[in-house]
Amino acid sequence: MIDAIEIPVTRVKESKLKTLALENLPFGKYFTDHMLEAEYADGEWKSVEIKPYQPLELDPSLAALHYGQAIFEGIKAYKDAEGNAFVFRPYDNFRRFNKSAERMNMPTVPEDIFIEGMRQLIELDSNWIPSIKEHSLYIRPFMFSTDTMLGVRPSETYKFLIILSPTGPYFATPMKIAVEEQYTRAAAGGVGFSKNAGNYGGSMLAATVAKQKGYDQVLWTDAVEHKWLQEVGMMNVFFVIDNKVITPSLEEGTILAGVTRDSVIKVLKELGYTVEERKINIDELTEAYKKGTFQEAFGTGTAATIALIKELKYKDLVMQFDVDNVELAPRVKQHLTDIRDGKIADKYEWLFKI
Ligand SMILES: *Cc1c(COP(=O)(O)O)cnc(C)c1O
Repeated sequence: MIDAIEIPVTRVKESKLKTLALENLPFGKYFTDHMLEAEYADGEWKSVEIKPYQPLELDPSLAALHYGQAIFEGIKAYKDAEGNAFVFRPYDNFRRFNKSAERMNMPTVPEDIFIEGMRQLIELDSNWIPSIKEHSLYIRPFMFSTDTMLGVRPSETYKFLIILSPTGPYFATPMKIAVEEQYTRAAAGGVGFSKNAGNYGGSMLAATVAKQKGYDQVLWTDAVEHKWLQEVGMMNVFFVIDNKVITPSLEEGTILAGVTRDSVIKVLKELGYTVEERKINIDELTEAYKKGTFQEAFGTGTAATIALIKELKYKDLVMQFDVDNVELAPRVKQHLTDIRDGKIADKYEWLFKI
């Protein structure tokens, strides 16, 4: 437990909830009444406050807009059947946020601002957590550089904010995926493991080109041979071959260490599956497919939890999966839902009470 810091709060005069029903809201479009904002200057975090959600006033020379020191996180809060609010694994996001910060040459954010600030903000806006099945409150912490000057160097000032968005349900429709052989998302030594804004900016064209060809997203491959598999769109990827589960390993730093990825691995092992975290290349998939042992492929991430892949295209080979009859992915998804709903004991202490 950390000491509760005193965060000054300015409340809204009237809640926007009066005119909004928390049902079937699209992802990330509506925001709660309040936000948290902190400023970094002179080597320290100062002026942390919770205030009404509002636009920011930004100088046109703002460093983040030009040189991209900008990182973020995505976390979810839920309410259980009794109306208790909790957040799923926020400490893992907190640690990852600071890894992203270090890689982008930004200051880390202390636990009392990130975790305790988030807790106080959610507590204040707890009416905004939907209590409907498959609905949640999406939490978006983010940080960006705020020096106003065009010289290229790490900024000396930053803003850290947390905003909250009620959403759901998220229908993860099975995806058609094309193996990417031209563009690259991440290379060894790069920034692929950090959740920085530029990774998203750099990936959009590949997804747009894939969409023009009738695919939902791409399966990213390595920068050198375009053979070694990394992630599917902005999700981690899992393959089931011959009843074994394989997911790309993290050691090269080209893959974002997903919290959902980690949860899925732990649950799979608990359910008795063999999970291999290792390098895997596209030839292994195509050979398994031809032999009839490639059973399932799916992506994992906070927004969708698990999204099935129904079609995977590599060169002339179109691999198809009978998503209505896969076993493993729905089983893991249900297990994670049951932990969240309190039907299965939270033995890893993933649930953080508000
Ligand atoms: C956020 C993200 C993921 C998923 O991480 P979770 O912690 O499971 O939400 C996977 N890949 C990329 C590139 C991401 O940015």
